[in-house]
Amino acid sequence: MSGPPPLDARAVALLACPVCGDSLSVVPGETTLGCPAGHRFDRARQGQVTLLPPGHRPPSGDSAAMVADRVAFLGAGHYAGVTSALVSAVRDGSEPATLLDLGGGTGHHLAAVLERLPGAVGVVLDSSPYAARRAARAHLRAVAVVADTWARLPVRDAAVDRVLVVFAPRNGPEIARVLRPGGRLVVVTPAADHLGEIVGFLGLLRVDPDKAARLAASLEPHLEPVGTAVHRTVLSLDRASVATLVGMGPHARHLSPEVLAAAVGRLDEPVAVTVSVEVGSYRRPR
Ligand SMILES: [Zn+2]
Repeated sequence: MSGPPPLDARAVALLACPVCGDSLSVVPGETTLGCPAGHRFDRARQGQVTLLPPGHRPPSGDSAAMVADRVAFLGAGHYAGVTSALVSAVRDGSEPATLLDLGGGTGHHLAAVLERLPGAVGVVLDSSPYAARRAARAHLRAVAVVADTWARLPVRDAAVDRVLVVFAPRNGPEIARVLRPGGRLVVVTPAADHLGEIVGFLGLLRVDPDKAARLAASLEPHLEPVGTAVHRTVLSLDRASVATLVGMGPHARHLSPEVLAAAVGRLDEPVAVTVSVEVGSYRRPR
């Protein structure tokens, strides 16, 4: 395998030192980021960089198996409609130049957004090193960072035009801090009927019907709601795709591979699966 792509200096300029909060830039040689005070952070061989304060360990992120399932499922294009809905919301209003995908996993969604925004740069931030290894190769104008999405983010104040959160946790105060005034959060959350067929069949956790209300309550002290779009479609999947869909999500933590394989094996193909998400937009007040 060839080495990782070079770092985009404009994307690196969005980052903040996790020790002192000052700016980071690429130290000559392309393998290390550094701040003016001399704190240094080496790129991993695969290209991602870990930005954590000394002694701080990230929460356990997605496992290698979950990331592999995510790569397979998203790569097959099954969530292309979700991505399109995300792109539309991100481009609503003025065209953004700087983006942060928080809990951005493999960088699949940010890469699709950057493809539609030729001048923009972005950061994919995730607590899973396995996801970040993939994200490091997702797009030439993106940098991949391993960090704790619940702690202070290693991103500069008022630096980004858009924060994206796709099926990932929200950190309202930190999202407001890193957005420039007038910048927007675009958050994709599952609707009540999302994956309803396999949720029922496999006995998985249902989406909490009060989730949307709780989401709004957690964000609105910091951000003002702009609007919500809904994307809904029915996929026609084979059993293998159903298995990767379950495997890449939070349900994978609660099911053994054997139980999942047995349950999926009883499904008739093709399996109809409803994809139903809400795409909410929030603005940081000026
Ligand atoms: Zn520093």
